[in-house]
Amino acid sequence: MTGIMVQKKPETPLIRPPSEWRSLLVRVTRGCRWNRCRFCGIYPALGEPGFSRRSAAEIKEDIDLLLARHPRARTAFFGDGDPLEAGLEVFVEVARYLRSRLPVERLTCYARASTLHRLGREGVQVLARAGLNRVHMGLESGDPETLRFHRKGQSPEMVQRVTTWLRDAGIQVSWYVLLGLGGRDHWQRHIRRTAWLINTSRPDFVRLRRLWLYREAGGPPCPLWEQVRDGSFVEQTPEGTVLELKLLLELLEPLDTFFVCDHANNYINVSGSLQEDREEMLAELHAFLALPEEERWQHYRSVGSRI
Ligand code: SF4
Repeated sequence: MTGIMVQKKPETPLIRPPSEWRSLLVRVTRGCRWNRCRFCGIYPALGEPGFSRRSAAEIKEDIDLLLARHPRARTAFFGDGDPLEAGLEVFVEVARYLRSRLPVERLTCYARASTLHRLGREGVQVLARAGLNRVHMGLESGDPETLRFHRKGQSPEMVQRVTTWLRDAGIQVSWYVLLGLGGRDHWQRHIRRTAWLINTSRPDFVRLRRLWLYREAGGPPCPLWEQVRDGSFVEQTPEGTVLELKLLLELLEPLDTFFVCDHANNYINVSGSLQEDREEMLAELHAFLALPEEERWQHYRSVGSRI
């Protein structure tokens, strides 16, 4: 009789920031506990409709399996949508365990502003002491009405407060901004308030995304289709998305912030320091917008959409 050895596989986060492609990907929780943002629905779409916590023992076992596969990893990332929902105790225990097994240069995670807010300034300091040194947070918009419409469950003030706590604790802050989130009717307000919030909060990174209403990702379609159907949300045009990016850059001050369009869905991929490269990024946008209309549309049609 021949025995077949089945190698145990670690669970890994369903999605991760593009900048974490080389990181050790550790799944601390499954899915998103909030799961209500109209523009998202991404975990149900990818086959994880609910939310569950994993035990510290399970996560540590996965860390061991991951380390056996990637012994030379220099960075690590904790998911899924909001791994701090594991509870401070579990999160800190697994963060310390990871760092005791591998001296990573960077440990990052996704985090909802409201979860960080619940932990308070002291909780954030505990996270920093456990070795967390960057947080990826979905700002999406700095406009309170846009955030309310999309059921984001956070206010600009809340994001501003937790950003201050994180930076004071020595944790870098990476914000995600979603072009198109105000739709065709409210794009100016969405961008102006977002620019104001960035200028006053000075996150370390601003990462741009374009709103994409997916239909078939394997699960239910993007929840926002309902508002598109009833007319309460009118989708932005491709060119409108580029104009949003241009307006945002025009309104941003020369901050010590790295600005980057680092997702395949973006129509234009500018990136650089707001202090040193803002003019160059704007020049790139102006050059694109000066192209003949047919050429611009050819470009829009050539850009794919994916999660
Ligand atoms: S955007 Fe983030 S918080 Fe909102 S439902 Fe999606 S994963 Fe959850």
